[in-house]
Amino acid sequence: MTGKFRDKIIYWRYFILIWAKALRLFVTHNPVKVIRLFFRYPWLRTLLKVSAFYARLCGNRQGRYLEGVAVTFVDGLVRYVAEHLEEVFLGSKKVIILEGILSREMFKAMGFNTYLAELHSMLMPLVSAHALEPYIDKGENYGVPADICSYHKGNVGMLLSREYPDSVALVTSNSPCDQYVGMYTLMEMELGLPVYRIDIPYNFTTDRATDYVTGELRDLIRKLERDTSCRMDWDRLREMCEERNRSLEVELELWETMRAKPAPLAAEAVYLAHWVVDRLGIGDPSGTRLYKRLLHLAQANLAEGIGALPRERYRLLLWNVPPFHFIDIISWAEREWGVALIMEALSYNRLSPIDTGSQETMLRGIAQSFTYAPMARHSRGPAENFLNDLFHAYRTYNIDMVWTGANIGCKKSAALLGILRERCRAADIPLLIFNFDIMDPRTITPDNIKEQVRTFMENTMSAGH
Ligand code: SF4
Repeated sequence: MTGKFRDKIIYWRYFILIWAKALRLFVTHNPVKVIRLFFRYPWLRTLLKVSAFYARLCGNRQGRYLEGVAVTFVDGLVRYVAEHLEEVFLGSKKVIILEGILSREMFKAMGFNTYLAELHSMLMPLVSAHALEPYIDKGENYGVPADICSYHKGNVGMLLSREYPDSVALVTSNSPCDQYVGMYTLMEMELGLPVYRIDIPYNFTTDRATDYVTGELRDLIRKLERDTSCRMDWDRLREMCEERNRSLEVELELWETMRAKPAPLAAEAVYLAHWVVDRLGIGDPSGTRLYKRLLHLAQANLAEGIGALPRERYRLLLWNVPPFHFIDIISWAEREWGVALIMEALSYNRLSPIDTGSQETMLRGIAQSFTYAPMARHSRGPAENFLNDLFHAYRTYNIDMVWTGANIGCKKSAALLGILRERCRAADIPLLIFNFDIMDPRTITPDNIKEQVRTFMENTMSAGH
């Protein structure tokens, strides 16, 4: 069988599996009830464009790399999103709306279903670049300043459209940024739900901060048990933490393979797997299985000396949030210059496994995972939090260049970019800082982003085609 023919089989096999997973909802539930959801929550209709998103990510990849991206897409993204929506919209348990950076295991162990409060804002531009725009506009028309991060404007628009599921409570924190806190205050007013806030110290890396947040979690459990019929099942929590640790172990092995030149996998087969397992599948054996599949593919490529890309020329570290509406910037750069995305900031962290020895140690581990949440771990506290991980990843993975997105609505990272420029210059690290808007392709278009990248690749990296 030729390589091209095998790639076609892989591509179409997973394409069919996407729809098989989606159609399962209609078979296992009353189809009329499922169809009604698409009218009650119009944002769900965006998800019907999932095939086009799949084609953008998988259409130009090949071999085991194609399989890695496809398996992440289907067994990770599609599976978890479908399960998440099924639990929330069709399940019978009480639903808690959970701030996007808080992980769900503690609440699952208490018997709640959790709705990731910003799921739609993350998913819609990924699946279809312009899908969030009406919600962003609604947020702006309501009075949210235009220069606020579009992630929040989209959430406000969703809130005003009344597209949040029925829930019993809202759990949030004061992290990662002030805009987030402002958005949750509005959410509290509009949804009229009881709100539980976890206070996270600004400099969260000390033992004292972990002690403090652990106390916050104890207090939160006490209040949720007092106000609802749900109770903490510590054995269930231990199981989930142990599973989380097993996932971490396999993921670290996968990351270890990424040190090889050429890298055996890249981009979505590494970072997207982390995003979906970490946010939607944490503590579930399916996450460990997904990482094992990816590790197996990476090891097979390593054994044969095959790289993910036909010709890896530049190893990229992407730091700060990426443009969600133009996430295929990576597959575009792969084709243009042989750029392999090795690691990115929302995935990269260096937390230890959770100690499951006692209730207290488990809560400490979860407290750390909340404080070191994606985005929060690099945008709160001293600049070292942003810089140290970056330079550690740069050294660990033999990186050739760093790209940092300057999201126009993110005041926190804007403040760090000057320091980053100086530090990279001193260390002789090629650095691209590109302007973009995280969720809105109208302000800085994908073509404009491409132009910024092209100028950097040609002038700084001297990359021809
Ligand atoms: S990108 Fe910046 S402004 Fe937007 S949510 Fe993240 S930390 Fe906040």
